[in-house]
This record gives sequence, structure tokens and C-alpha cells, in this order.
Amino acid sequence: MARRNPHRPFRPDPAQMALAPPVSGNAVNGLGETAPRRARVVYWAPDPDRIPHGRMQRWFYQVDPDNPEIAAARADRAARVAIALPPVSGPPVQRSPEAWTAALQAFRTEAGVDMVGVAAMDPDWLYEGQKTHFSRVIMLAVRHDFDRIATAPAATAGAEVIVQYGRAMAGALRVATWLHRQGWEAEPQTGPMAGKILLIPPAIACGFGELGKHGSVINPEFGASFRLAAVLTDAPLAPTAPRSFGVDGFCQSCRLCEDACPPEAIAPRKQMVRGVEKWYVDFDRCLPFFNQHHGCAICIAVCPWSRPGVGPRLAAKLERRALRKG
Ligand code: SF4
Ligand code: SF4
Repeated sequence: MARRNPHRPFRPDPAQMALAPPVSGNAVNGLGETAPRRARVVYWAPDPDRIPHGRMQRWFYQVDPDNPEIAAARADRAARVAIALPPVSGPPVQRSPEAWTAALQAFRTEAGVDMVGVAAMDPDWLYEGQKTHFSRVIMLAVRHDFDRIATAPAATAGAEVIVQYGRAMAGALRVATWLHRQGWEAEPQTGPMAGKILLIPPAIACGFGELGKHGSVINPEFGASFRLAAVLTDAPLAPTAPRSFGVDGFCQSCRLCEDACPPEAIAPRKQMVRGVEKWYVDFDRCLPFFNQHHGCAICIAVCPWSRPGVGPRLAAKLERRALRKG
């Protein structure tokens, strides 16, 4: 039997809901559309006035703004946004694609991130109306402090997310600086604000993990408890391989995130979204709770893969099971 959910029933703040647009966020996302198309920015727009849910995005910032942890995390991230990249200098350093990727892996610690990967650019990852000439997407991930994210939906978890977005941004700036100093152009893409490209598809393509039922990437070592950033470049890095370790099948029979989600936004089955059948979180249900509770993150915290030490054991168990089945 499902455990009682302490956050149900959830009653959205009428002041927030008065700002909801007439259009559904699920329609913006292409839920039910059978033809492929590029994604549209549904939230975290750099200019909220350009999206239907922009007034709700502004409302997010008036929840608990004086909380010391949230205020400190926002101030830290704002300081990082202001850091300028040095110009591209010197002739482009030449290495084989494999040597470039090995050099990037060796730079990971100095970049201050927990994972790096590389994907060949797929134009379908660009948001509608965006263009790029870059051929590579370098993906970066930084892990949450699990004890802090486990407090979700408290302010501490919200502050942890902002802290890690700041760390991911600093990592992207360091990687872009590293490339500029070797004569290659580079363009950081840092969350939570939407940039030119979606971050989840290249994260899956570069081997960070698989899409979970809660709509986040699940990695065997970090679970879903991490944040992403990217750097676009033409430096000819070799792509890193995608990895599959049984998450999809696991999610079919697990429902921890479904039961824990206060507004019941996580669907039990995959749905058609812009021509692809996949796990999908109901945007219109999630957003009011997310906004009212510092970005929520309950689904990330309760996912068994996120608990430190559990993911590698689960992946090994699923692999043994798959081998037994032949
Ligand atoms: S972030 Fe959204 S989908 Fe996840 S638990 Fe919270 S409300 Fe549900
Ligand atoms: S909580 Fe369970 S169903 Fe949800 S994403 Fe994690 S493993 Fe999948």
C-alpha cells in the first residue's frame, strides 16, 4: 500500500493561479503531438515576458526571498553569471578526437565538476528559433549534497539546487575558458535559465544515464541527484557512448516518485510528446507546487537511485538479472 503523502491534498495559492495563462504548458511541450518538432521554452525563460507562463515564473521569486540560504545561493550564482570569458587566443590546438576527449576528462577536476561527456550536436536539441554552427556539445554534471536535497520541498533543498546550478555554471565557464585558451570558440549553456539547447537529450546521448519516470536523467552513480550544464564548441572531441543499465524497465515497476509527488504530476505510463513515446511529467500539475515550494525536488530525493551508494548496487543487480535472462 502506498505511504500517506504528507503534502496531499495540495491547494495552490489563488494568487499564483491568478497568473496562470489560458494555454496549457503541456500543449507548449507538445504532449499528444505525434509529429516531431523542436521544443519551445515553457519555463525558465531568460525574458519571462516572452513565454505564456512568464508571470508564474516571476512569482516563483517572491516565495521566501529573505530565506538566508536561498538569498546566499542566489547572490553566489549572480556573481558567477557576471564573470566574462577571455577572448579566443592563438591558433587552434590540434589533437585527435580521442586525445581531445581524454584531455577534457583530465580537466574535469580543475573544472570543478563531477562528470563530463561529449555528444555530437543534433539540431533537434535546439529550441525552436535557435541556431548554432557548433558541432559538439560538452556535457557537465554536478552532484547535489544528498542530505540537503533530501529535505525537499524545504528551502534547504531549493538552496542546494541553486548552489549546484552555480557550481555547474562555474564549471562551464572554466571549460569554455580552457577551450578559448587553446584557440577554440566555446559557448556555455547554463541552467536553470533556458539557453539554446535542451540539456537532457545530450546528457543521455553522452552516457550520463537514462530518462526516469520523474522526467530527470538517472545516472548509476549519482541517481537523479545532479544538475547539468553544457558547452558548445567546434573542438573536435570524440563523443562518449550512451549507457543503458535497466532504468527504463525498473521505472515500469517502481512508483515511488508517483506516490511522493504532491500534485500527482508523474504519470504511470509513457506518453507521446512531439512524436516520441517517453516518460513525461504533467507541467500544469507540477508547476504550482514547484513554485510554492522552492522548486520542490521531492521526486529526485525519493528516487532510490539518488540515495548514495544505492545506484551502483541496483545497476549491478539489474545487469545480473538481464544476464540470467540471456
Ligand atoms: S518537482 Fe514536480 S513532478 Fe517532481 S515531485 Fe515536485 S511537483 Fe511532483
Ligand atoms: S522513483 Fe522509481 S519510478 Fe520514479 S524515476 Fe526513480 S526509479 Fe523510476
